[in-house]
Amino acid sequence: MNEALVIYLVELPRDAGGFVRRECPRCQCDFKTRPRAHDACILQRRLASLFPFENAHESFDEVPDGWCLYCGHRAAGDEWLTPAQQAHVEDVARSWANHVRYEQLAYVSRTLGLNPRPTFVSVKPRALPEPLPPEADDLRLLPLVCCGEEVKAHEDWDGPIFCPRCGIRHGGLSGRQQVHLEFMRE
Ligand SMILES: [Zn+2]
Ligand SMILES: [Zn+2]
Repeated sequence: MNEALVIYLVELPRDAGGFVRRECPRCQCDFKTRPRAHDACILQRRLASLFPFENAHESFDEVPDGWCLYCGHRAAGDEWLTPAQQAHVEDVARSWANHVRYEQLAYVSRTLGLNPRPTFVSVKPRALPEPLPPEADDLRLLPLVCCGEEVKAHEDWDGPIFCPRCGIRHGGLSGRQQVHLEFMRE
């Protein structure tokens, strides 16, 4: 029997407008941004931390930090998964590990066909989890001039907002759009 090539896609669900939900690790409020180039890297890293893939020693690309839209908290790029997204990645990693273990045992039992007294049976693991459903099309669209990007915030948020990509603060309670520029040394 040929080993079946299994390709399983893990991705962050999007809403109808193509936005992905993020959650601040500090204030636990959610907002949305467009998918990022490094989202796949974040998922790959998270999966590799939960399940030791054979290529886990490969170095992953650096993921840039992100900022919370509401509280301005800065955190590493892979700390912005929502609890549902994290649970899904953990579920996939666990199931995948079970499948790999099953295949290894099944391979052993297949190749030990001459063994008259096998000491184990391999039980087929349950199917890999279904992908997460698409995101609800909620939250309010806001354009951010600093990075030329659109984000989505809660309808009732009237405080200043911070750009999730560059951390620049926009606006405030005065209602006047102010842009505070901060230059940071790399
Ligand atoms: Zn926050
Ligand atoms: Zn920005």
